[in-house]
Amino acid sequence: MKILIVDDSETSRLLLATVLGNAGYCDLAFAESAAEAFDILDVGNPHAGEPDLDLVLMDVLMPGMNGVEAASVIKSNPLLRDVPIIMVTVSDDEETLAAAFQAGAADYIKKPVRKTELRARVASALRLKEETDARKARERELMDLARRLGEANRKLEELSNLDGLTGVANRRYFDKLLQREYQRALREGTEIAVLLADVDYFKDYNDTYGHLRGDDCLKEVAGAITRAALRPGDQVARFGGEEFVVLLPGTGWEGAREVAERIQENVAALEIEHGASRIGPMLTISLGMMSIKADRSVTPESLVNMADCALYDAKRSGRNCVRTGNRDHCTMQDG
Ligand code: GH3
Ligand code: MG
Ligand code: MG
Repeated sequence: MKILIVDDSETSRLLLATVLGNAGYCDLAFAESAAEAFDILDVGNPHAGEPDLDLVLMDVLMPGMNGVEAASVIKSNPLLRDVPIIMVTVSDDEETLAAAFQAGAADYIKKPVRKTELRARVASALRLKEETDARKARERELMDLARRLGEANRKLEELSNLDGLTGVANRRYFDKLLQREYQRALREGTEIAVLLADVDYFKDYNDTYGHLRGDDCLKEVAGAITRAALRPGDQVARFGGEEFVVLLPGTGWEGAREVAERIQENVAALEIEHGASRIGPMLTISLGMMSIKADRSVTPESLVNMADCALYDAKRSGRNCVRTGNRDHCTMQDG
């Protein structure tokens, strides 16, 4: 470990160095004054890194700045705060010692220095420094661990809200969001819309092109739908299988229809061949939409149900179209 000896007397410096050297402390630095010590410690440099120093032996009586003031300057530097300082002093009167400890000194040794005492005090100061360093390293590790854990948790939370295949939000997330947004719409007395989109003849697509191409197709459709929902509050989610849902807070019929039509245009623009479709040569989707002014007599689930009825209606009307729901009667029928 490295020790800095600050003393204006060469004899003192040599004596301290000899005793320390004999005790096995060979990594020593020397300063003749406070100013020289500050240079070595890089005190004035705001960009300095962790100091390469473990202990300072500081003479009290020096020309220029005295040792007590110098100790106080060193201790007020955050990078040097944990470097212990042992004052080496001729006078051990109350006043000097009080000032030294006030300045942040860890200990003192009286001049003339006795070898055994010097060795013992240096050893104990260095032990303390070592423990402080180890504690700081542990703290840094813990902080780093906490940061990485936080990141991993955020990532996990994000992943648990996403659909693994298409990367859009999953049903779990949609269900939570629907409740939250519906409550908000109730509070604010605003409109809220739901679109349900279902790929036409998708079973036949799988049967014709295979399940893997079916998966790719769903990813593309998810992208096309996402690109159609433009407002920051709009949320696309995979509702299940080849069905997607779009939640549009603060959106009435007109806005919902715009999004629905944009979805159809985007899907058409994908130009995904679907040889087994009974509609045309390309893949199409059907959409059901529902918009209401939030109202306590309608639950969020029934809002989705009304959009589902509208989707069913779109399927019955020949597919590849948008149908609107209504709140008066919505009964699902077979066929
Ligand atoms: P409709 O026009 O009436 O909607 O007919 P459809 O064939 O699209 O509907 P149906 O409900 O009969 O079939 C849905 C198909 O979607 C069957 C299922 O294998 C397929 N599907 C659901 N999830 C996935 C998936 O993750 N990947 C693939 N490749 N296919 C899926
Ligand atoms: Mg379908
Ligand atoms: Mg379906």
